[in-house]
Amino acid sequence: MNPVLRRTAADLAAAIRSGELTSVEVTEAFLARIEAVDDQVHAFLAVDRDRALETARRVDAKRSAGQALGPLAGVPIAVKDLLSYEGLPTTAGSRILENYRPVYNATIVQRLIDNDLVILGKTNLDEFAMGSSTETSAFGPTHNPWDLERIPGGSGGGSSAALAAFEAPLAIGTDTGGSIRQPASVTGTVGVKPTYGGTSRYGVIAMASSLDQPGPCARTVEDAALLHEVICGHDPLDSTSIDQPVPPVVEAARRADVRGMRIGVVRELGGEGYAPGVEQRFREAVEVLREAGAEIVEVSCPHFVYALPTYYLIMPAEVSSNLARYDGMRYGLRSGDDGSASVEQVMNRTRGEGFGEEAKRRIILGTYALSSGYYDAYYGSAQKVRTLISRDFEAAFAQCEVLVSPATPTTAFKLGERIDDPLAMYMADLCTIPSNLAGNASASFPCGLAPEDGLPVGFQVMAPPMADDRLYRVGAALERALTARWGGPLLDRAPDLTRSVQALVDEEK
Ligand code: GLN
Repeated sequence: MNPVLRRTAADLAAAIRSGELTSVEVTEAFLARIEAVDDQVHAFLAVDRDRALETARRVDAKRSAGQALGPLAGVPIAVKDLLSYEGLPTTAGSRILENYRPVYNATIVQRLIDNDLVILGKTNLDEFAMGSSTETSAFGPTHNPWDLERIPGGSGGGSSAALAAFEAPLAIGTDTGGSIRQPASVTGTVGVKPTYGGTSRYGVIAMASSLDQPGPCARTVEDAALLHEVICGHDPLDSTSIDQPVPPVVEAARRADVRGMRIGVVRELGGEGYAPGVEQRFREAVEVLREAGAEIVEVSCPHFVYALPTYYLIMPAEVSSNLARYDGMRYGLRSGDDGSASVEQVMNRTRGEGFGEEAKRRIILGTYALSSGYYDAYYGSAQKVRTLISRDFEAAFAQCEVLVSPATPTTAFKLGERIDDPLAMYMADLCTIPSNLAGNASASFPCGLAPEDGLPVGFQVMAPPMADDRLYRVGAALERALTARWGGPLLDRAPDLTRSVQALVDEEK
């Protein structure tokens, strides 16, 4: 593998600033890697080769002209195909957005452009970000680079798989119930869901608006922090955006110090039903933090056991409302418009053909939960439990600075294993959902490989709203201690995807 691919984003940016590498060289290396392995991984839905190289050339010209470059200038990045990027199709993993090209950039995309990052392309996801495996994507699943027969997590499996396959040094994800953290967990990468309102949702295709939050995906904690500072901050175009300074996450990541920090292990997340290797690596990581000087306490959050059913009422209710706009009238797919069909018939056919099964399931569930006569029993009750979950967090954060748990109950499962069993699929987000319901900051960091299957395990850290820096303090302390123990980054142990199928065929000739 080209050694450039293994370098961190921080290191690549420094090399570009110092003149050791050009942005064009770096960009070409990642484009060549995508070319070589993406037919196996399928992390990308679109690769924007020409525009990426054009941006890279512009960054190199800036440097030659002696202009100052920002902390990630010239570094390539992959963007989940839920964010609007002018000029490229934005599919949300759905057929219903066929041929749709946004006419404006999401605020986050604009910030990447303004900070001279090089957008490589758009990554695969579950349809409208609904799923935990990328298998509901209308364009076929993404494969986990650790084992191509396994899921890369979801919904943002494309972004995390691109990192784990060294197809990109950075990526953007979105997290409604775990779609940044669960893929990070099962691919051995870092994923951060900022505080709700910390990143702008403007131009991000809405799934469940009170839960959705875009965030950084990376291979190291410092890289995630650098990206966090580029994309976070107040945006007047998003009414839920918080108008406060961004927490000092880069400084926290560099300090990597948990001495004297009170860390709470959540009693309700873990134990029975969790894979033994997940439990083992999680417990070991807690010990690592204790050795690094943290004070470990056990805390109880009794309402977390209701988080999953609460989420699966509130989220579909919002989905049913947000997805009502895809009616074949204004943009995207239009089916059955033969000149004689009524508007209702065209809408029916378009929605019938354009949405996949999981999207339909959620639209129907959500419409039911909101319907008169059932509203109080379902949606209303779920909102009350949501408040109880937030209060559990408040009580826990009165006793400790962060909470920790496994990020997912199991390691990556096999493609196809859960796709016909929605409830089994939903269980993948058991640990991540409480933070979405409460809107606090939360992240997954690699903490080892499960002994039984050799697959990555994620360590979840949760912090109070606008205390995102604490995630990075813990993540960086853990990363420092564990990479020393492992003798290098966890991803160095991932099998190299060596050659593309085509290269193997060519070699045989
Ligand atoms: N897997 C969860 C779901 O299917 C989370 C999705 C997400 O965070 N976008 O709803």
